[in-house]
Amino acid sequence: MQPTGMLHLGNLEGALANWVRLQDEYEAYFFVADWHALTTLYNRTELIKEYKREVAIDFLAAGLDPEKCAIFVQSDIKEHAELHLLLSMVTPISWLERVPTFKEKQEQLKLEAISYGLMGYPVLQAADILAYKADVVPVGRDQLPHLELSREIGRRFNYLYKPTFPDCKALLTEYAEVPGLDGRKMSKSYDNAIYLADSPEETTAKVRAMYTDPTKVHRHDKGHREGCAVYEMLKLYGRADLHEDCEQGIIGCVDTKLRLAELLNERLAPIRERRARYAADPRLVDEILAVGAEKARKVARETLVEVRQVMNLR
Ligand code: ADP
Repeated sequence: MQPTGMLHLGNLEGALANWVRLQDEYEAYFFVADWHALTTLYNRTELIKEYKREVAIDFLAAGLDPEKCAIFVQSDIKEHAELHLLLSMVTPISWLERVPTFKEKQEQLKLEAISYGLMGYPVLQAADILAYKADVVPVGRDQLPHLELSREIGRRFNYLYKPTFPDCKALLTEYAEVPGLDGRKMSKSYDNAIYLADSPEETTAKVRAMYTDPTKVHRHDKGHREGCAVYEMLKLYGRADLHEDCEQGIIGCVDTKLRLAELLNERLAPIRERRARYAADPRLVDEILAVGAEKARKVARETLVEVRQVMNLR
């Protein structure tokens, strides 16, 4: 997860909640991708610094347990950078040019120039994965092309030198896309997100301003599911039934919104409680990150010894 902003409900339900389950089943590594954030925030590095710890706090708040998994910051493990460099030697540029998200990003970000780093982003991702010889990577559908590229890079390395990397598989997150306040996908870039760090009051205020069926003007008009972000969100939490009174014209949008706000505040209560505890103790967070880095470094170091060996660098 990149430290380009605070984490929101979309990140929670689309990724973090799944990670929390996975930490019990796998030897798991989760990191704050500060080097990746530099591909877009290279001229606002103070933001990366600020968000780095916040994202780690969001991880812990969501329920990642440092006893069960490694939680660390990418740039603390220099092996990612070395492996990125070595893999970049065996990655054809044409592979990077055909990554579908590359062109999108190019247009979306309107950067003055596309940097070498942005283009090589998927190579760094491959290094992030291969450094741990990961068998599975929990990703959303949008990340599948990147993961495929990581596998191709790993296979090419194995073919050129010596079988070193296992074929990593995607562990697809089943969760549906979380809608934002305006009905589009929830994203920090759209200013339509409910953040894990928001208070119950902020959450309720945001939900009250959510986009709903525009054809329901009066309280007793019959509401529709189509085009109603509140309905979509209730459905996501398996509580579409809370929208039925609105469809019957029994209650107004504000009432339905208050039901949703209550549901979200209940969901977020334990997360907020943990968040407040960690936010009050930055030294503890730094310690957790140091221990996580130690765990991760041990594995990445071993991989790099092997990589250097098969590449005749030792
Ligand atoms: P943002 O769109 O806010 O920049 P990111 O792209 O950094 O979010 O998201 C990191 C991960 O969080 C994604 O790979 C995805 O799995 C998950 N995610 C983000 N937004 C949503 C959403 N609205 N619904 C479900 N999952 C999401």
